[in-house]
Amino acid sequence: MTVPESFFQKTYDELLEEFKLNNFPAYGAEQVYAWVYKHFVFDMKSWTNVSKAVKAYLQERYSFDLPKVLWHGQSLDGTRKFLFGLNDGQSIETVLIPARDRFTLCVSSQVGCAIGCRFCHTGTMGFKRNLEASEVIGQLMAVTTMFNTKITNVVYMGQGEPLHNFENMKQATLILMAERGLALGQRKITLSTSGLVPQIERLSEFPPVNVAISLHAAHNNIRSELMPINKAYDLERLLQAIRGIPLKAHRFITYEYILIEGLNDRLEDANALIELLDKKNSKVNIIPFNEYPDSAFKRPSKEKTLWFQNLLNARGLVCTTRMTKGSDILAACGQLKSEAEKLNLWI
Ligand code: SAH
Ligand code: SF4
Repeated sequence: MTVPESFFQKTYDELLEEFKLNNFPAYGAEQVYAWVYKHFVFDMKSWTNVSKAVKAYLQERYSFDLPKVLWHGQSLDGTRKFLFGLNDGQSIETVLIPARDRFTLCVSSQVGCAIGCRFCHTGTMGFKRNLEASEVIGQLMAVTTMFNTKITNVVYMGQGEPLHNFENMKQATLILMAERGLALGQRKITLSTSGLVPQIERLSEFPPVNVAISLHAAHNNIRSELMPINKAYDLERLLQAIRGIPLKAHRFITYEYILIEGLNDRLEDANALIELLDKKNSKVNIIPFNEYPDSAFKRPSKEKTLWFQNLLNARGLVCTTRMTKGSDILAACGQLKSEAEKLNLWI
């Protein structure tokens, strides 16, 4: 018996094409996509306006299985964290961050990560495999149906390097953005990358979502120490590739900057950042280092963080600080998975 394909792998255009090939009416594809992505109803018995022939066809070919929740927890600040089990026994993390008028979902793009940043817990796990587009969409569908919550924003900031998984993340992005489906706007999706220059140079082939660059240092020697990828693509090459990203008017590149005590939080680091970045279209997002058991670095004090932020702002570089969410449930990148493995936490 052949294993059915996941329905969550299909873009709207692909489904429409398949309907045409099978002589099903185009509005059938529209109806099916709406049941799944607008009403979140996967049980075909409830699809009252869909023909028997279409249902029989889909039943035979597609599965609507979602990743299984192995564990989930809620932090004191409302952040929810999920550990999902995939079909091959691997597991990944997803974080739901509620804010006043929005629900942001932080999805994983890979199992593990090959980049090996020294401050990142995922980096210590090594790379296992890329996620399929259906597994990325599955994270959103599982959380949505579990809490009956409409996700308004998606960030590719969970485990993995999304640009290492270019084609599958592109496919997932097309599914997130489909008008007839989830209909997330391009400004509601943010792709975060550690700085893979060849793939940044191909971003014109990717749907035009927000781009965040994990910068973390404005000196090559410090960045290379933190992120081995800087030895392959240094700051000059990275900035040059970023200048080539097709930016619409009024759009920004966000630079993520993990602030680490004594390492990149000095006056000379702020000065170098101001020199390096183009004030017109850059925003700096400071992330105070999230400590985890045995982590090699320390988080600076609140005063130091504010001082650093004010310095950049005073010199005309737009800068905000992202407060760490969910630290009481180990919501930093990759932490839950390792802790759960250690403690055998999940059911
Ligand atoms: N691989 C991509 C996206 C996933 S990481 C990237 O690196 O951009 C998402 C963000 O979490 C990155 O900015 C990363 O640097 C940050 N991060 C990883 N470990 C962290 C830690 N211990 N404390 C704070 N931020 C961390
Ligand atoms: Fe990979 Fe991003 Fe973690 Fe670096 S910070 S190891 S690129 S997930």
